[in-house]
Amino acid sequence: MTHTADVVVIGGGQAGLAAGYHLRRRKLDFVILDALDDPGGAWQHTWDSLRLFSPAAFSSLPGRLMPAQSGHEYPDAGHVVDYLADYEQRYDLPLRRPVRVDAVKTEGERLRVESDAGAWSARAVISATGTWWRPFLPAIPGREVFTGRQLHTVGYRSPAEFAGQRVIVVGGGNSGAQIAADLALAGVELTWVTQRPARFLADDIDGRALFDAATARRRALDQGKTGTGGVASLGDIVAVPPVRAAREAGLLKAQSMFRRLTTDGVEWADGTRALADAVIWCTGFRPALSHLAPLGLRGTRGRIATEGTRAVGNPRVHLLGYGDWTGPASATLIGVGRPAREAAAEIAGLL
Ligand SMILES: Cc1cc2nc3c(=O)[nH]c(=O)nc-3n(C[C@H](O)[C@H](O)[C@H](O)COP(=O)(O)OP(=O)(O)OC[C@H]3O[C@@H](n4cnc5c(N)ncnc54)[C@H](O)[C@@H]3O)c2cc1C
Repeated sequence: MTHTADVVVIGGGQAGLAAGYHLRRRKLDFVILDALDDPGGAWQHTWDSLRLFSPAAFSSLPGRLMPAQSGHEYPDAGHVVDYLADYEQRYDLPLRRPVRVDAVKTEGERLRVESDAGAWSARAVISATGTWWRPFLPAIPGREVFTGRQLHTVGYRSPAEFAGQRVIVVGGGNSGAQIAADLALAGVELTWVTQRPARFLADDIDGRALFDAATARRRALDQGKTGTGGVASLGDIVAVPPVRAAREAGLLKAQSMFRRLTTDGVEWADGTRALADAVIWCTGFRPALSHLAPLGLRGTRGRIATEGTRAVGNPRVHLLGYGDWTGPASATLIGVGRPAREAAAEIAGLL
């Protein structure tokens, strides 16, 4: 059986919900399909001690302020999951779970969305499937010979399972710094390795400043200016309280990237070696876009060319979240509202 809807939103994490909020306001006929059993998107799967890099009030989706989490200026992931679950109920968003979309195809003037729960015929699609589901591992020699444990950010939960072990954390972004701090503060023997020198934001600057930078960039782009730096130009690592504590205790000293893995550890270019029981790759993510492959929209570096959120190759397809290429800060809680509003407006115009 084929269902019909004017708009199918693929993914019911924060980006899909923000899209739902604006589609609802425009009184469009839509459904949100999500592969997970429960609300919350990727926030359900992060490590136990993760903290947002902005206070609650600066981590809100359109329409509803995130309430503060008692006792924490920077909320944890469980608080975000509760907020998102409440959000979809409050706005009565039409979520269907669990529904995994396998493919989106063109079908005359419409799009055919194929899933493990049947097909939908839609006039437009918003893809909001995030990046958590496609962890990226760099091609480092020796990865296959290392006999210890290797895992990516997505597999890390807590330091307890590494007690008494020597652990190498690779990655100088927020995930790498937070996981390194988590391990070091728990007394795990840590080597933290980053590709370029770790850059900490000043202690009094948090994700709010990153968002301000994204807003400034957005304004500059709107005025036709290019080369305005962007979010990363401020430095990378927000000194959330555990990161600050570990750094102040002298536990967060980054070393340069090693050249290769050996059977029992790693080796730098000058021949120095370190033994390791585990290597945790905090090396980022790629957009989860395989369901759009039949549309043939993929350009260079695995991305789909977009104008705003709209795919250049198909005006019925919008992308939301993922990264700055679908709108400055669109892969953040507070930043996804604006591109979601623009996507809904464009789709309303098209229909
Ligand atoms: C470690 C980490 C810390 C972060 N910290 C912050 C922070 O402090 N503040 C902030 O604003 N942002 C932060 N972010 C960035 C961003 O807010 C999160 O990554 C957020 O989860 C992105 O939301 P999303 O809706 O785009 O994707 P997701 O949360 O991944 O949601 C996508 C949804 O799509 C579903 N899906 C995927 N594929 C399919 C398919 N084929 N069919 C159907 N459903 C599918 C998934 O099941 C999921 O529910 C952080 C990111 C990471 C990785």
